Amino acid sequence: MRSTLKQHSIPFFKPALGDEEISAVSETLRSGWLTTGPRCKEFEAEFTRFIGVKHAIAVNSCTAALHLAYEALGLQSGDKIALPSLTFASTAEVAIHLGARPLLIDCDPHTFTIDLNHLEHVLERERPKVISVVHYGGQPCPMKSIEELAARYSSTIVEDAAHALPASDDGRRVGTGTGITCFSFYANKTITTGEGGMITTQHDAWAERMRLMSLHGISKDAWKRFSAEGSWYYEILAPGYKYNMTDLAAAIGLCQLMKAEAFRKRRAEIAALYDAHFASTPEIMKPYVRIGVEHAWHLYVIQLDLSLLTIDRATVISKLNAAGIGVSVHYLPLHMHPYYRDVWGYQPHDLPQCYELYQRIISLPIYPSLTDDEVAYVANTLIDIVTKHRV
Ligand SMILES: *Cc1c(COP(=O)(O)O)cnc(C)c1O
Repeated sequence: MRSTLKQHSIPFFKPALGDEEISAVSETLRSGWLTTGPRCKEFEAEFTRFIGVKHAIAVNSCTAALHLAYEALGLQSGDKIALPSLTFASTAEVAIHLGARPLLIDCDPHTFTIDLNHLEHVLERERPKVISVVHYGGQPCPMKSIEELAARYSSTIVEDAAHALPASDDGRRVGTGTGITCFSFYANKTITTGEGGMITTQHDAWAERMRLMSLHGISKDAWKRFSAEGSWYYEILAPGYKYNMTDLAAAIGLCQLMKAEAFRKRRAEIAALYDAHFASTPEIMKPYVRIGVEHAWHLYVIQLDLSLLTIDRATVISKLNAAGIGVSVHYLPLHMHPYYRDVWGYQPHDLPQCYELYQRIISLPIYPSLTDDEVAYVANTLIDIVTKHRV
């Protein structure tokens, strides 16, 4: 028994790093240029090409990217921001750092992205300055509808695309929106630099502001204007942040970006395999993908039909863990966390769709090095658990 268990130890995530990344880091170390420099510039240039967007700004996390985006859009004390409750801490916390009030929005029960009806209702009543959306799991939100809503209520859009590289909707790539888009290269994201992020926008003034604020508000061009002063001269134009990416990270990012499409293809294959395994098990509801979407498949999230089961989600997870399978839950909705309950007054049932969904979801392993056999083991173990506990 023990040996079988060990044999089937499948972690929730493994990054896909190869010899290319190791060589690139060694080369960068030997170059003597460790922090922001030529590799970052190259990574930004490759990223703009990959996405098909005017500006790309490399930063040290997606959280930093979101902070810079909100700041560039002028979000400040007394302003409001609408954002989905079903997200990671970052989407909301940096807006709160700027003094804004978070308006948490329910999720669509099929796609798990922001619920458009609830969003419209809150826009009508509260007129937030910014709308932040999350391409949950790697499935793009319906941006055309969201852009129409934003235009009607004079809001600007920030896209949290931490899960969505690469992804597109109706042939339109995530990262080319009317507002600002923020990507993550955290260790468990679709491509990684260990820690890192990227901001994209088509808008010159926002890009300039975010670039400035990403490194202490220091004007890099000052020394050019005062060339007599020499390259030691700089000017502080605003109290900025320390959010620049290192060349060590960018060297990894350049290798990973080249593999991003191949990684996505493998994750899509894994999603299709899971779908096929779960086809005739009604207790397990497969992820719903909108027509015309190219899904990044950062997450493969199933829902348990609890009305057909005698056990709850936590018990299912314990049993998966006991079989050597790592899984996760994305997410306990923000409005159910103590901080949002105590400080902003949210109750679980305020966002009923999020609340209901949260009881049922499990994220299964999905990453390029996961084999077909491992997918089969995960799927069959889960099927076994639920069929043994039917009502
Ligand atoms: C991972 C993640 C972030 C934060 O990314 P970092 O690069 O770790 O700062 C933000 N939003 C979502 C939805 C995420 O999953």
